[in-house]
Amino acid sequence: TSAPSESLASAPPLPLAKPAVFIPVNRSPEMQEERLKLPILAEEQVIMEAVAEHPIVIVCGETGSGKTTQVPQFLYEAGYSSEDSIIGVTEPRRVAAVAMSQRVAKEMNLSQRVVSYQIRYEGNVTEETRIKFMTDGVLLKEIQKDFLLLKYKVVIIDEAHERSVYTDILLGLLSRIVALRTKRHLPLKLLIMSATLRVEDFTQNKRLFTTPPPVIKVESRQFPVTVHFNKRTPLDDYSGECFRKICKIHRMLPAGGILVFLTGQAEVHALCRRLRKAFPTRCSQPQEKEEEKDSAEGMRRFKKSRTRAKKAQAMALPQINLDNYSVLPAGEGDEDREAEMDDEEEALGSDLDLDLGDSEANEGEQPDASLPLHVLPLYSLLAPEKQAQVFKPPPEGTRLCVVATNVAETSLTIPGIKYVVDCGKVKKRYYDRVTGVSSFRVTWVSQASADQRAGRAGRTEPGHCYRLYSSAVFGDFEQFPPPEITRRPVEDLILQMKALNIEKVINFPFPTPPSVEALIAAEELLIALGALQAPRKDERLKTLQISQLSCPITALGQTMSTFPVAPRYAKMLALSQQHGCLPYTIAIVAAMTVRELFEELDRPAASEEELAELKGRRARVAQMKRTWAGQGASLKLGDLMVLLGAVGACEYSGCSPQFCHANGLRYKAMLEIRRLRGQLTTAVNAVCPEAGLFLDPKMQPPTESQVTYLRQIMAAGLGDHLARRVQNEDLLDPKWKNAYKTPLLDDPVFIHPSSVLFRELPEFVVYQEIVETTKMYMKGVSTVEIQWIPSLLPSYCQFDAPLEEPAPTYCPESGRVLCHRASVFYRVGWPLPAVQV
Ligand code: ADP
Ligand code: MG
Repeated sequence: TSAPSESLASAPPLPLAKPAVFIPVNRSPEMQEERLKLPILAEEQVIMEAVAEHPIVIVCGETGSGKTTQVPQFLYEAGYSSEDSIIGVTEPRRVAAVAMSQRVAKEMNLSQRVVSYQIRYEGNVTEETRIKFMTDGVLLKEIQKDFLLLKYKVVIIDEAHERSVYTDILLGLLSRIVALRTKRHLPLKLLIMSATLRVEDFTQNKRLFTTPPPVIKVESRQFPVTVHFNKRTPLDDYSGECFRKICKIHRMLPAGGILVFLTGQAEVHALCRRLRKAFPTRCSQPQEKEEEKDSAEGMRRFKKSRTRAKKAQAMALPQINLDNYSVLPAGEGDEDREAEMDDEEEALGSDLDLDLGDSEANEGEQPDASLPLHVLPLYSLLAPEKQAQVFKPPPEGTRLCVVATNVAETSLTIPGIKYVVDCGKVKKRYYDRVTGVSSFRVTWVSQASADQRAGRAGRTEPGHCYRLYSSAVFGDFEQFPPPEITRRPVEDLILQMKALNIEKVINFPFPTPPSVEALIAAEELLIALGALQAPRKDERLKTLQISQLSCPITALGQTMSTFPVAPRYAKMLALSQQHGCLPYTIAIVAAMTVRELFEELDRPAASEEELAELKGRRARVAQMKRTWAGQGASLKLGDLMVLLGAVGACEYSGCSPQFCHANGLRYKAMLEIRRLRGQLTTAVNAVCPEAGLFLDPKMQPPTESQVTYLRQIMAAGLGDHLARRVQNEDLLDPKWKNAYKTPLLDDPVFIHPSSVLFRELPEFVVYQEIVETTKMYMKGVSTVEIQWIPSLLPSYCQFDAPLEEPAPTYCPESGRVLCHRASVFYRVGWPLPAVQV
């Protein structure tokens, strides 16, 4: 199978439109027979003609119709790859990229040197590679280095219906790249593949594709699937419910594989263990041990290769310095985010594992060896060899049961499934609009996803789908999952795109754009944080740039884009590489991103005893907060000092549930914080290996001067959350007693009674968030010195001196702000003290 296209390359501009060469593929007869059963084979001619005539083509077809495995082969055979330009296929999931490259290589009887994969830090691409499967994040990175993607003759965006943010951004970029390549007579073909027919966002979007691309529908032979709803919806224990349902199916229903949908890796393992115990096969025990070892080994390998890759990456980057603060050197962004997702999945899963363990212990099932069940797990971090197991027929006399996460919904099709058990849940990234914090949560799936899952049962014969929830609950599911981009906070996204050198975000052809107001607000916040650069000199130009969203990223912004937290917190991390503040900032940021560290103790009590107990604990918690906040300098860090103290104290106690309970801390929140600290430490080490940071859960308390630096760091990140105590409150309406004024709200706001600064009433504070109950309350409050404001938050200040003067800087040694300006105002017109050189 040598390269075909000498003749092609010498005959532009039409070489790709009608490839002259047909590359023979030497498939085994069995393989050929299996392929011929796939519905997409009937459409080969139609697809290839469309590709020849149009630069962009959309292919829609049911999961399992053969899109992912066959379309790259069609293109290969038709000569769409050569030594120097290959076929690229993107997948939103790593599992799919690896598994599909292996499958296609096998079908074509080629080695993985020719049909290869590349996922974030791992791959087997060689000089000989002609078809390359990769994650969407990998292609996005390549675009940063080679905007025209000259290495590719065809790019296939697979699973476009998933609408992952990367896929959406890729489509926007590729629409432009295809046009540019056509202009240069180096045409690039783009294929978009979707498992649903819902493609209007691509075809009806004139900004994305001026000429709507043709849509080819692959008719599939789907057998009827009978859907059974539960009468009632189990509240929590859907794993237990899955187990019972599988037992029933296995004991009472005719042959046919079972596919179970759960939400995470740990859940999957726990259910596999339980099922293997209940229905042992001859080989299930050793198999299980090996599997778990493998998965741990896989994780270790993955982490190791990642660290190595990151070190190499980070070493090459320059050190920068900004405004008297040593900012960490800029790294490269999106791969970290992708990595983080799996780690998060992993950790969240192990949390759930605890719950599962209990219910397992309560059951006491009798093993039944007369009914062997061939139980296999399937999730994204499972070693590739183990993933491949699900495609093999089960041993004689056993029934196949695959316990999977969402990966089996559309990315992978498992043969021989007749029964689907759907817990109805999925683990999804959730963004908190208030804090901008992202976390993984288990939520209901959409109706479209539930139907996809059910469809897995009707591939080879009529099947059954058991939904572990009622039809009423199903009726309340949203119809389609909204594109991820509309669920994300955009300041984060804009920062990522700017880091990819996409400057005019407003012109970017998003398949589904976020609202303009949201985009502009994001641009303004990022400018204020110093992540984007706006010309200071010309207000008119600045306004224009902001409305066009065309401000370029700064070095600080590049660094911030590498941290997996909201930009406000990323700024804090970026500024903390000095005076040994990093471990503290990491702990505070981790604690701030976990909502509600403290248990709700104000709840109504059911009995006298409970009331007394609650009162006692409230008093103790208040006492502990005062202890953690300390006195003098430390108290000035306020509630953020409490967070730091709580995290430290909890770790000293070994993070035990007892300690948490006694001190009113939520145990799960504390575990979450520990996990986040680990993750942020990894992220910092990735951009700055010289920092050599290692996570010591126990921290020495910060010194007095460190506390002062921490206050500045917090103020720099929370600059738009500054509040000032009202002056001359005696002259005002009584409702302003003890009140604060913020630039964003007309109403008075107050320090929350749970804050350690409630009675202190400092003049200037920053707050983490405002919650509205009987009044507007600030939570997460820390004090700010008035003279810091012009230096730390210059973008919020108005200076009455000429604008070209250097930015004011705070001099820690003298405690003075160095500035030429005579007077300074915070943006609502609060006068600040006169400052001089
Ligand atoms: P689509 O992308 O349209 O969802 P695929 O191309 O992934 O469909 O799958 C087509 C067929 O190939 C399915 O029947 C699936 O079971 C089979 N298949 C995919 N991977 C493997 C594998 N590793 N081993 C055996 N069969 C496989
Ligand atoms: Mg597919």
